[in-house]
Parts: sequence; C-alpha cells; structure tokens
Amino acid sequence: MTVASVEFHQHHRDVTGGWLRPAVFGIMDGLVSNAALIAGVAGGGGSTRTIVLTGFAGLVAGACSMASGEYTSVASQTELTRAEIARERRELELHPDEERAELAAIYVARGLDETLARQVADQLSGDPRQVWRVHVREEMGVDPDDLPSPWVAAGSSFAAFSLGALVPMLPFLLGFGNLAAALAFTGVALFLAGAGVARMTEVPAWFGGLRQLGLAAAAAAVTYGIGHLIGANLA
Ligand SMILES: [Zn+2]
Repeated sequence: MTVASVEFHQHHRDVTGGWLRPAVFGIMDGLVSNAALIAGVAGGGGSTRTIVLTGFAGLVAGACSMASGEYTSVASQTELTRAEIARERRELELHPDEERAELAAIYVARGLDETLARQVADQLSGDPRQVWRVHVREEMGVDPDDLPSPWVAAGSSFAAFSLGALVPMLPFLLGFGNLAAALAFTGVALFLAGAGVARMTEVPAWFGGLRQLGLAAAAAAVTYGIGHLIGANLA
C-alpha cells in the first residue's frame, strides 16, 4: 500500500475546545446556579411567585453572563493567535532561509535524520504562499484554518446555560412547583450530565454523576442556609 492511498481519517473527538467545553460548563453551571438561587429565595421564605420570577431572571442573567464571558475569552485567545500568525508570516517574508532551517530543525527534533528533515523542509517551503500554514501548525500547534469561533462558544454556552437553568423551573411550569420537586429534577439532570461527561473521559460514569450531585447539593445547601438566615432577619 502506498502512502498516498492511505485515507486520512480524523476520528478523534474535538479535544481542542470548539463547542463541547462551553456547552458542558454551561449546562452544569445553569443547573447548579439556578437551583441554588431558588433554594436561597425559598430558604428565605419567598413565595412561589417570587421563586418563579427569580428563577427566570436568573436564567436570563446567567445565560447572558456566560455568553459574554465565553465570547471575550475565546475572542481574545483568537486575536492573540492571529497576531502571532501575522508575525510568523512577516518572519517568513523577511528571512525565508532561516525559517526553512528552523523547520528542518523541528523535524530533526521530531526524530527525522538531518538529510530527510532538510528534504521535507525544502519541499514544504516550495510554495511560499502556503508554507506559513506549516510553520503555524508546527510551531504554534494550531490549525490556522480552524481557529475557535467566539460566536460558536458564546452561542453554545448561552443555549446550554438556559437549558440547565430551565430544569429547576420545570416543576413550576408543570404546575406542581415547590423547592423539593425543583431540587429532585435538578439532581436527576445533574447526575445524568455528570455521568455523560464522565463517559467521554476515563472517569467511571457513576463517579462523575455522584461528584456532580455532591457539589451541587453543597451549593444549594449553602444558599438555602444563607437565604434562611437573611430571610429571618428581614422585616
Ligand atoms: Zn517559523
């Protein structure tokens, strides 16, 4: 089989970021923060009406905050990467021979012998309009044609947070709204989300689910307690 006949598969999951990380964080964050928020209001003696208002305000506020945070973080990362790419392209225009030697040195460091490394570097440097992509991949470890989009990150975290934050509100929408039902819905969703994330990694699913559940229970207990204290001291 010749090398050229080998198909080039990319079966690996997208481990570089993209939408998965903000989506997972968003769902977890929405579940935990909104369940804890309404637990605090309920702990302070808030009426069902107040709890529902708080829950939906928390959903919208949290989704906007998550989305803007993700947007800023990914946008500044991408801008930094673009600036570095521009610098590399200038270097290639000004010092093509040094850059070619640098590329050969990279392949020597990867394990090619020097003659072969030079041949590879020479051949890749044959097209001056394309070689910068090789330098960017080899030196910076990023694919210049596939930089993470801040809009994708912002959109997926907005949608994911809203979805997570909606879960504790479901019992209220379905007409049997009380804190216990909201926490039960949230607990089931958190266990499933934690187990789902764990399935993508090497962590056992039950452990991922329980860990998520435990962290959220702690958050809800703290806000419930503080809400109770503040509620008892309010006129
Ligand atoms: Zn270079």
